[in-house]
Amino acid sequence: MSYSYDDQNIFAKILRGEIPKNTVLETEHALAFRDLYPQAPTHVLVIPKGAYVSYDHFAAEATEAEIVDYTRAIAEVCRLEGVTLTAGEGFRMISNAGLHGVQEVPHLHVHILGGRPMGRMVAKE
Ligand code: AMP
Repeated sequence: MSYSYDDQNIFAKILRGEIPKNTVLETEHALAFRDLYPQAPTHVLVIPKGAYVSYDHFAAEATEAEIVDYTRAIAEVCRLEGVTLTAGEGFRMISNAGLHGVQEVPHLHVHILGGRPMGRMVAKE
C-alpha cells in the first residue's frame, strides 16, 4: 500500500506561503521554522519541501539529494540554535508518525528541542 498525503495540512500551507511562519533556515529541499507552541527554549520544526507524511515515508521514497539536503539542514539548525555537542549542551530530536506516534500534522517534521534538560524520553501510558 502506498502512503497518502493530504495537501491541505498546515505545513503544506506554510510551504505554499498561505500561512505565516517564523523561518530559521531554508534550503533547496528543506524548511525550518519555530514551533508555534514551543515546549523548550529551542523548539524548531524541520520539514522537507516534498510531500512526505512521515520519516519512514521520506526515508523509503525521497531522492538521495532530498535526503542529504534535509539531513544537513537538521545539522545546520542545531548549529544555528547552539545545541550541538560541540558548542552546546545537546538536544532531543523527535518525529511523531501516525496514531500511535500522536502526529498532529501529517507532513514529515522533526522537532529539535533544546536549551534545557529534556527529561525522560517517553511518558508511561
Ligand atoms: P506533531 O504532534 O509532531 O504533529 O507536532 C505538530 C507541531 O506543529 C506541534 O508542536 C504544534 O505546536 C506545531 N504547529 C501547529 N501549527 C503550527 C504553525 N502554524 N506554525 C508552527 N508550528 C505549528
